[in-house]
Amino acid sequence: MLEKLVKDSKALEKAIAGEELTYDDGMELMSYDNIYMLGAAADLIRQKSVGQQVTFAASYYMNYTNVCAASCQMCAFYRKGTESDAYTLTAKDIEGRVTMAKNLGATEVHIVGGFHPELPLEYYEEMFKTIKKSHPEMHIKALTAAEVFFIARLTKNSVKEVLTRLKTAGLDTMPGGGAELFHPDVRNKIVRGKCSGQEWLDTIEQAHNLGIKSNVTMLFGHIEKPEHIIDHLVKIREVQKRTKGFLTLIPLKFSLDNTELEKKGLVTSESASTYDLRITAVSRLMLANQLDNISVYWVALGKKLAQVALTYGGNDLVGTAFSEEIYKAAGKGTNSSIIELANMIKEIGREPAQRDTFFKVLKKF
Ligand code: SF4
Repeated sequence: MLEKLVKDSKALEKAIAGEELTYDDGMELMSYDNIYMLGAAADLIRQKSVGQQVTFAASYYMNYTNVCAASCQMCAFYRKGTESDAYTLTAKDIEGRVTMAKNLGATEVHIVGGFHPELPLEYYEEMFKTIKKSHPEMHIKALTAAEVFFIARLTKNSVKEVLTRLKTAGLDTMPGGGAELFHPDVRNKIVRGKCSGQEWLDTIEQAHNLGIKSNVTMLFGHIEKPEHIIDHLVKIREVQKRTKGFLTLIPLKFSLDNTELEKKGLVTSESASTYDLRITAVSRLMLANQLDNISVYWVALGKKLAQVALTYGGNDLVGTAFSEEIYKAAGKGTNSSIIELANMIKEIGREPAQRDTFFKVLKKF
């Protein structure tokens, strides 16, 4: 049925036939004017790859420090060490937070922070060892590839040495942050003091090769053009073909409030909901056959639009995001309960399932 309706798009025909899309196909989809048809094709591919289930993890977010040597223009979270609301958690603080996470039913802690210019590698090792000592069953998803790259530079160790030591200390997987957009034309305008796109990709590939799987993100809805989105997706697909180490792609809608991009007037409004849906659909279609999970980050989209995005190729809601602070700093409400997420999924006629970090189903509702 759908095959007959998409005769005006070679790229959609190929996607429905199960063929891999090229960069040019991706560019065609970024300007294809029938957003409903794009969504229907992405929804079909989602159905074929993962069925009706929509997953989410019970996840507790922890930001160990907001002190950051970088000063990215799209970030509302960072502070300089001298500011009154700058903070850095101790291993003891972190242990207390993990106990809280456990009491909330979290199965993973998601730990990220700024690029603290003074913390030694031992700080991170102690953090992970302390967590594992008191809560050996808690999954530690921590430190983006950008943070690992920064720590390696700061401590004059190789990326491989840092990753190996962190893994020995208890690191299980890595979150997908810091990827932003890899293309230097846009990356150099939205980040300041962060690794290049290629350095992020090299770091994550080394992690995958050491057996540390990860997520990957894509920050959209700011100053990018379609070619930057497609470039990003193609680069993710290339790494995934070599390592199979990505667990999910999480497209992140740029949140405007309190960022330098907003203050300088470089971005004056957040992206339109139709653009957000296009990004979800194109992500699904470009990564088909390589990455089964396309996550919809409800914290950034809002719960109602997140439900729609689940019908445009998404199959995962990321998680409960207990205690999230990064989007909160940019004006978004971030808490949700397991039952609330399950109900959001039921409302659109899909099947909710709580998963672990590796997408193994733990509980159905
Ligand atoms: S995005 Fe990360 S690296 Fe950039 S300023 Fe914010 S906390 Fe620092």
